[in-house]
Amino acid sequence: MGKAAVFLDRDDTLIENVPYLGDPDKVQLLPGAKKSMESLQNGNLPLIVVSNQSGVGRGLITKEQVRAVDSRMEQLLGIRFLEYRHCFAAPGDPYDDRRKPSPRMLQESAQEHGLDLARSFMVGNRLSDIQAGHAAGCKTVLLKLRVHPEDEQQSTTLADQCAETWEEAAQWILSRTRVSL
Ligand SMILES: [Mg+2]
Repeated sequence: MGKAAVFLDRDDTLIENVPYLGDPDKVQLLPGAKKSMESLQNGNLPLIVVSNQSGVGRGLITKEQVRAVDSRMEQLLGIRFLEYRHCFAAPGDPYDDRRKPSPRMLQESAQEHGLDLARSFMVGNRLSDIQAGHAAGCKTVLLKLRVHPEDEQQSTTLADQCAETWEEAAQWILSRTRVSL
């Protein structure tokens, strides 16, 4: 049987969203993210970032800048992610078929690392995160620290769990993991 993992959106889930962020000095963790990543990692759950970074496809930032932001985030969190899956294509680009809400980035990661999607989780703040996780067969958690009014209702309805804080989200995931072991 494959391993359970936690897929994580980046912007407005782990760090404050700054549109097309390319400056590592502007990385700010969201409240509770550090402690919760430590708890999940201590719970033996591989952590994978799954993020749409269309700023690259739009020519606004480079992949190197995205990497610099990721490294800074990882340094501030004090943990190691198993990997980063980014879709750099802009919407409408012929190569945008990996963009969330597509489940493809999660599926590719599961295949490469022998992960069991049905025992895994997707955490994010937007409907596209919840849709991607749902389509991949994961349990989905809507983290409500930074929700968007235009898709909050739909996200709330589709998500398996809503969490007002990172602590709530991590606790729910860890309790489900223990049950399924
Ligand atoms: Mg987000």
